[in-house]
Amino acid sequence: MLSNDGKLVEEVLEHIAEIGAGKCSITDAAIAAERDASVQQILAGLLMLHEDLQYAQQRQSALLDELRLAVRVRDEFLSVASHELRTPLTTLGLQIDGLSHTLPGLVSGPQTEKVARRLELTRRQIDRLAALVATLVDVSRITSGKLQLTKEHADLVDVVRTVADRLGDDAQRSGSSLSIDASGPVWGDFDVSRVDQVLTNLVANAIRYGRGQPIAIGVDGKNASARLCVQDHGIGIAPQHQGRIFQQFERAAPSTNYGGLGLGLWISAQLVDAMGGTISVRSEVDVGSTFTVELPRAS
Ligand code: ADP
Repeated sequence: MLSNDGKLVEEVLEHIAEIGAGKCSITDAAIAAERDASVQQILAGLLMLHEDLQYAQQRQSALLDELRLAVRVRDEFLSVASHELRTPLTTLGLQIDGLSHTLPGLVSGPQTEKVARRLELTRRQIDRLAALVATLVDVSRITSGKLQLTKEHADLVDVVRTVADRLGDDAQRSGSSLSIDASGPVWGDFDVSRVDQVLTNLVANAIRYGRGQPIAIGVDGKNASARLCVQDHGIGIAPQHQGRIFQQFERAAPSTNYGGLGLGLWISAQLVDAMGGTISVRSEVDVGSTFTVELPRAS
């Protein structure tokens, strides 16, 4: 029973504290027994507040459960779909390669060149699709925490050469030259395929955003760390975008001129982080960009 104003305020505050902690000692019987109508109203209001809060909390936790389930279903779908897509794509690529090799025996005359060009175009589209599927596989591995590293003793200069050879044609098509700047071997324990992937992504971006200007890949090693730099002289990145481009789906270039998912740098940053390294960018609009990756040399 509440007697005077001071006591009423004190008791209301106690109830509020109790409600804040997720409990409430006000019962329907206590409200019915209260003789003061105003106090009765206050108690009923507090009880209702408690019930509303309880309901909102239950709803919130049910929604969170639903959200977690939806995210899990999405991740599972992404994982299964990307793995399933890889098999037919690989087969398709092998079929095209087989056709390209047997082509001279199948067709002759001016037709040969035409068919060869079409096969080459098809191969390139398959490679693009395969790269997109590989991106999906990586996103799925990273988000589900299933990324695994396999380190081996290797020379980073070899990795740089492999990537430069593989992307040489693409660079040439866009008008950019690709040069390697290395003063000697850079040995260390690296996950070669992951380093290859990061470098491939940086060089592919340099080609895409490099406006046909020369691209240089630098590689050098200090005592404990190795450094890879990819420098282009292309469109550059404004200071306000330089931090966010390493986040998922973030893009800075106008999508009307440049396609892309905005995932390459995010994947690269995640891989570099998993390898214990860092990735950074220095860039100026209309002057160009330099992406730098530092990696530890020992496991
Ligand atoms: P994507 O290139 O597929 O959009 P990325 O994650 O690889 O995705 O890159 C994110 C964004 O960073 C790009 O959309 C582009 O705006 C910017 N960017 C990346 N590399 C370069 C570069 N070498 N020069 C200029 N902008 C770049």
